[in-house]
Amino acid sequence: MRGWFDPPARAPSLPILNAQQVLREVFGYEQFRGPQQPIVDHVLAGGDALVLMPTGGGKSLCYQIPALVRQHAGHGTTVVISPLIALMHDQVGALHEAGVEAAFLNSTLSGEDANKVERRLFRHELTLLYAAPERVTTPRFLAQLDALYEQGKLSLFAIDEAHCVSQWGHDFRPEYRALTVLHERYPGVPRMALTATADALTRADILERLQLEDAGQFVSSFDRPNIRYTIVEKKDATQQLLRFIEREHPNEAGIVYCQSRKKVEDIAQVLCAAGIRALPYHAGMDAAQRQDHQDRFLRDEGLVMVATIAFGMGIDKPDVRFVAHLDMPKNIEGYYQETGRAGRDGAPADAWMSYGLQDVVNQRRMIDESPADETFKQVMRDKLEALLSLAENTDCRRVRLLGYFGENYVSQPSAAGPLQGGHSPLGGQRGHDVPSVGATCGNCDNCLNPPQVWDGTDTARKLLSCIYRVQQASGISFGAGHIMDIVRGKVTDKVTQHGHAELSTFGICASLSETQLRGVLRQLIAIGALTVDAQAFSTLQLTEASRAVLKGEVAIRLRVSTAGPAPKKSKGSTAASQATADLDAAAQTRFAALKAWRAEVAREHNLPAYVIFHDATLAAIAKRSPNTLDDLQGITGIGVKKLEAYGTEVLRVVAL
Ligand code: ADP
Ligand code: ZN
Repeated sequence: MRGWFDPPARAPSLPILNAQQVLREVFGYEQFRGPQQPIVDHVLAGGDALVLMPTGGGKSLCYQIPALVRQHAGHGTTVVISPLIALMHDQVGALHEAGVEAAFLNSTLSGEDANKVERRLFRHELTLLYAAPERVTTPRFLAQLDALYEQGKLSLFAIDEAHCVSQWGHDFRPEYRALTVLHERYPGVPRMALTATADALTRADILERLQLEDAGQFVSSFDRPNIRYTIVEKKDATQQLLRFIEREHPNEAGIVYCQSRKKVEDIAQVLCAAGIRALPYHAGMDAAQRQDHQDRFLRDEGLVMVATIAFGMGIDKPDVRFVAHLDMPKNIEGYYQETGRAGRDGAPADAWMSYGLQDVVNQRRMIDESPADETFKQVMRDKLEALLSLAENTDCRRVRLLGYFGENYVSQPSAAGPLQGGHSPLGGQRGHDVPSVGATCGNCDNCLNPPQVWDGTDTARKLLSCIYRVQQASGISFGAGHIMDIVRGKVTDKVTQHGHAELSTFGICASLSETQLRGVLRQLIAIGALTVDAQAFSTLQLTEASRAVLKGEVAIRLRVSTAGPAPKKSKGSTAASQATADLDAAAQTRFAALKAWRAEVAREHNLPAYVIFHDATLAAIAKRSPNTLDDLQGITGIGVKKLEAYGTEVLRVVAL
């Protein structure tokens, strides 16, 4: 039933827009990326969709383009449900820049401003309305949606960060559960659920919880070919981090993750003292300061954010050039999620992690001491072991990472976009658990500099038997440091006090370095042949699985730790230099002038610079050296509205 409020009829002269046109004219892009086109087609045909795409894959366009096409055809407003208030502001800002009518409703708006948005909604002026899930399910908002629905002006629901509906996802939000109301109350309005969370359990949960069983599933490859994975053993982690930033990413934006708040503060200070512009971020800071630091990270160029995992969800800054983990995260899901924040723009980026035995001990302790039940703890321990085994192994990191998410890595990536196509409209068909044997990606540390390996099988047996004998002799267990002292034959006070110099295992590994022994211990923990008892001063305990190692049935292979720094990247060292690599001196000058101009515009509009134009767009302008507005046509990222708003200014800037 149509209400009394007649929708403004589409002017008869207005041509029907198609998706390709919107892509080009509104967003200024020539081609759809990866699976965007089939997704958009599916939704335009009225289908529901579940979209799984890695971070930076281009999820937003998958609903923004249908929103525009459908609004133009008279179907009304698309409601985007997003849990991230900070992000709504920038997304709506970016849409305004592209000339799209959009607004958000969230708790940051005054009552008066919220009323204004509602009035625009009822005048059918909005193509997209962003709202937080807790708002969507209020009686007031539902009544407003009811009215729109009656008028046939409720076009589409896009549920962003859809993994929040699942307790298996990494960010469960109970409010998401209530979103089933959309389906029940507004049948016939297409719904899209979008997420970058890969794991099968979460995916199944999303389908069930949001009643999307009949939806088209679009599962992209989760590979991020532009991200280079590097995992190093901790020596002097702070110095290693400093060297990494100074050599690989001077003056570039990045995120450094640390385990504790205190460490966040300390590392931010160390970086600043070394002349790197860095800010801290953790949940212990007051909200205003956190917000301020986040805004500066998004808006300024080349800032490093030192943070706990409290930072990052929904950070869609495209030019984060590196994500560094100074401590080992809890599991591969977390690691992949966090590293995925690098290089959303598809330009080269680094994921760098340093880890050591202490990380393993700490993480184990946190699991053991958590109040969770034993089954849950065991799952957490297994997940930690999988991450440790990724760190310790000498084969391709990418093959292992993707294998962990059930994806079989096949070919060497091309230099194309961040997606390798390979989506499956049926989804769930990639369930191979076995990493592709021998496959290499050419863009991780192990592929670039294959590590030398040594056989630690014998050493592992010696260590385990030492732990066994110490336990027998003293009736108690000891930590890693003491065990290493014994096998290396070091006479310490503790060794003397406990008479451990008398043991047959005293000095049996005298020729090995502490680094080597630590490596073996980590491997033993990784494969579950040793556990760390958190309740008893992190002592090492034998397990059922120790037996096979003691018998020599399990081969332990270890990387030979390299003392020197990793070789410098070959060519195109930094992403910035990559974007501008083929610019001659005059074009470089134009590029710099354009950047300065963009910074000013961004400040005036209170938006991050990349929302105005991406670096790639500025580089293309600088290269073309345009004289007329026509010369600017067809440059990637310049749509009709931006050409109109900024074209003349841009010509003035490059002419200087
Ligand atoms: P996601 O939400 O999947 O992490 P976004 O939607 O933020 O990714 O897109 C990542 C970046 O890629 C954005 O800067 C966006 O403008 C750009 N992008 C998306 N689709 C295309 C395309 N077809 N061509 C060029 N750039 C694109
Ligand atoms: Zn590799």
